Amino acid sequence: MLIDRLIVGPIEENCYIVGDEETRRGVIIDPGDEPERIVGTVRGLGLKVDTIFNTHAHVDHICAAQDVKEQLGARLYLHPGDEMYLPDLVEHAAMFGMHKARRPTVDVWMADGDRIECGTLEIAVTHAPGHTPGHCLLTIGEDVFCGDLIFAGSIGRTDLPGGNYEQIIASLESTILTLPEPTRLHPGHGESTTVAVERRLNPFLRGLSPRRRSRSAI
Ligand SMILES: [Zn+2]
Ligand SMILES: [Zn+2]
Repeated sequence: MLIDRLIVGPIEENCYIVGDEETRRGVIIDPGDEPERIVGTVRGLGLKVDTIFNTHAHVDHICAAQDVKEQLGARLYLHPGDEMYLPDLVEHAAMFGMHKARRPTVDVWMADGDRIECGTLEIAVTHAPGHTPGHCLLTIGEDVFCGDLIFAGSIGRTDLPGGNYEQIIASLESTILTLPEPTRLHPGHGESTTVAVERRLNPFLRGLSPRRRSRSAI
């Protein structure tokens, strides 16, 4: 499996291109900005991408989704909990200097527990709210694309509209802390890390313990 990380836009967001080396099928996670660069990289890798996932719908993660999906003929997956961010997206993006942002149309509303096949890749969806109401983790094998739930040494903010501190703590306890230590974490900003490293060094995980979660209805 190949994982290519592009750092895009003024907020330096990680857009991931994940591909199956045998079938040359791939997916894009969080196309935040610079659609031409994302599409050019996909073509340069010789991948066929028909699926785009967004961990959540903040402007820095989703503003290139419409251009990328039109150019590649792909479908966009998002959790319905983040639909609330879409109406004001273009306006908010302009405040960050992202003047080419477009409001994307969502093709598939994904839900916790969904498993989507793409070539030999299987992408598992886990709802992990707190940073936003509809924030999801996308897991492919032992690689977790964790959006803004957790970063190397930090966690996502909860002071933006729709954020909830108790929820993000519950999500960390029910997802990251229950994963095997070698699991690789690929966050929405900054470098990749592992569950083992974060358990030891991330100050925000101190005092938390793994917990089975109460499944949400959505
Ligand atoms: Zn975010
Ligand atoms: Zn972000």
